Amino acid sequence: MESVQQEGECTDSHLMNNSVDDLSDPDAEAYLNFMKKHTCYDAVPTSCKLIVFDTALQVKKAFFALVANGLRAAPLWDSKVKRFVGMLTITDFINILHRYYKSPMVQIYELEEHKIQTWRDVFLQNHHQSLISITPDASLFDAVYSLLRHKIHRLPVIDPQSGNVLHILTHKRILKFLYLFKTTIPKPRCLQKTIEEVGVGTFRDIATVQQAASVYDALSIFVERRVSALPVVDEDGKVVALYSRFDVINLAAQKTYNNLSMSMREAVRRRRCYVEGVIKCYPDETLETAVDRIVSAEVHRLVLVGRDDRVQGIISLSDLLQALILSPAGIDALPP
Ligand code: ADP
Ligand code: ADP
Ligand code: AMP
Repeated sequence: MESVQQEGECTDSHLMNNSVDDLSDPDAEAYLNFMKKHTCYDAVPTSCKLIVFDTALQVKKAFFALVANGLRAAPLWDSKVKRFVGMLTITDFINILHRYYKSPMVQIYELEEHKIQTWRDVFLQNHHQSLISITPDASLFDAVYSLLRHKIHRLPVIDPQSGNVLHILTHKRILKFLYLFKTTIPKPRCLQKTIEEVGVGTFRDIATVQQAASVYDALSIFVERRVSALPVVDEDGKVVALYSRFDVINLAAQKTYNNLSMSMREAVRRRRCYVEGVIKCYPDETLETAVDRIVSAEVHRLVLVGRDDRVQGIISLSDLLQALILSPAGIDALPP
């Protein structure tokens, strides 16, 4: 098998002006050093389910296979060139539905008939992206950098000798790994500060969706804003639910992707979701409370709200990894 393109080394062009967030904190770099010392292999579980799709497979079958296996993404194998060429994720499902959906009366022909390769030929005309992967012996620091720099949520770990995919690393897995060792690592002082003080997260121009809006409206926001989730709000702007890109796979699981005029209220009611309510945080809570909550709820973000439940911001795992790992190294991979 041919070798796969490797990514992830950080370059000087992403260095921030103020390299260490709090120069008076001797432990500010503790998490960063931990991530530099540990490899991607360290964070690979002893056993996990992984499926690979040949690009000749029909897209519809591929998404049904993800649902049937309870997976969120799969590496794509091109048997003509005999190498992994990309990933298939729920974002691709969203892009296909958004591009080809016409009305509840018209079947999405392209979803029924297209092969993954056909879709990639169309999509990659405007979004050229070759596979971004990492080797098992690269550091977790490099994995964080690669995920944030490329704005992706799935990073395959590929053994350069065998060419096999060992695991697909995510922000969740990496933060969980750090968390397992948290009692052995000195705690950066910023964790004791409030969210308001440290300013970790996005606080302006938050993409939300109204309860009465349609699923198609939500897909349009996902496509245009490229955000990973939308707080669902009522007429008063209060958050009542959270709809993430992951939830869109329910349309495949329930075969309801032909009716995207369904309201968000209905889509939220119908989806299979293991998280109860909205996992939130408040500006006066500490960063440590936010990290504890996001790790224990196993979600990708917290919705920042005021005491009136109105949305004030989003704190995602990307923001936390940027603040705890990349900022102390003087790197800003999440420029505004
Ligand atoms: P999701 O949040 O839906 O799991 P991502 O944000 O990771 O998806 O994916 C966004 C886009 O980037 C998708 O089109 C996906 O196919 C592509 N993509 C994701 N991971 C990789 C990767 N490691 N290499 C190349 N492309 C990727
Ligand atoms: P992924 O593992 O693909 O990043 P997410 O964490 O975005 O997935 O979503 C997994 C499930 O958790 C989805 O059903 C989503 O609606 C739910 N979820 C994610 N974040 C929150 C949150 N802050 N509050 C409530 N539910 C959430
Ligand atoms: P994510 O894709 O969730 O890993 O986050 C990437 C960046 O987008 C982070 O800085 C988030 O705070 C931000 N973000 C995520 N969701 C939203 C949203 N709904 N509106 C605005 N920004 C968001």
